[in-house]
Amino acid sequence: MTSTRSVRVGPIQIGGGAPITVQSMASTDTRDVAATVAQIRAIEDAGCDLIRVAVPDMEAAEALGPIKSQIPIPLIADIHFDYRLALAAAQQGVDKLRINPGNLAKPEHVEAVAATAKERGIPIRIGVNAGSVPEKIRAKHEKDGDAQEQLAAAMVETALGHAELLERLDFTDIVVSLKAFDLRSTWLANRLFREVRDYPLHLGITEAGLPPSGIARSAIGIAALLREGIGETIRVSLTGDPVLQVRIGREILSSLELGGAGITLVTCPTCGRCEIDLAGLAHSVEDKLRPIDRDLRRERRSLRVAVMGCVVNGPGEARDADVGVAGGASRGVVFVQGKPVGTFAEGKLADALVDAVQNFLKHD
Ligand code: SF4
Repeated sequence: MTSTRSVRVGPIQIGGGAPITVQSMASTDTRDVAATVAQIRAIEDAGCDLIRVAVPDMEAAEALGPIKSQIPIPLIADIHFDYRLALAAAQQGVDKLRINPGNLAKPEHVEAVAATAKERGIPIRIGVNAGSVPEKIRAKHEKDGDAQEQLAAAMVETALGHAELLERLDFTDIVVSLKAFDLRSTWLANRLFREVRDYPLHLGITEAGLPPSGIARSAIGIAALLREGIGETIRVSLTGDPVLQVRIGREILSSLELGGAGITLVTCPTCGRCEIDLAGLAHSVEDKLRPIDRDLRRERRSLRVAVMGCVVNGPGEARDADVGVAGGASRGVVFVQGKPVGTFAEGKLADALVDAVQNFLKHD
């Protein structure tokens, strides 16, 4: 199967050939509406398409409406076990539910959630993590190959069990995730699932860890599947600031040329030839370009900006970019589409580059 079903989450389409989206999860207490809204806005600013919040109790469920009314991206309610929280979240106007139907206590609870979700046009994500696979399903797959193959088969059976509960109720507005900490199990599980169902897949490596190891682990795990055409939305699960999770997610898509909209920043690693503070310049340029990057992403436009340390590779790379700078002795040359437009003192280079970007975009 190459193409998946299409699932609509508010104004965002997942699957069915839509651009791959990046999502994240707020780390605030959902009951604290002001803190949650502030964090979601920062996350959205970094390029997040959809945001999920934890709904551990009814007070959190009742905060969803006020949160949703103050944010510009679709809101997903993350619920475990208690179907009443799912019904309350739906009534509060959320755009998607993450709940595993098989974990609800009674069949009539599954029916009530499916009926409400259907009536309101809200999809459901079935999220299976390695740690949540029931022991008896694991035991059934004890002879299915090595440990990772066994885990993958058990995860897929668990997800299918949840999906079948909904399918029996004629509910197929479903997204599925199959996440493990180890990359091969995640890869195997998603490939296996794609062979048997065409629901869009939400990719991620669960509990990937702290940066930088969590970044490497997530990037490799997610990219391996995306390269095979598997995965319609992604979430990078790092410990720490969700803004960083989103930035890494966007970088994964941009590196695979799957989500090229926005600014691609090319910077050299520096060496003994560099005579400016290139890392400082690159960080300053990245910070100053962030609002432009956000606008370009919204307009689905792309721009390549190069920040290079010296005249050896610098001018060539800077010339290949839309806008670039090549450093010299405490100064640098700014290029726009291969043509030098001025030489600036090191302290003025970041602003000169940003001005050149703005001018370029105005005339592009
Ligand atoms: Fe070194 Fe110049 Fe290459 Fe940067 S561009 S790594 S400073 S040779």
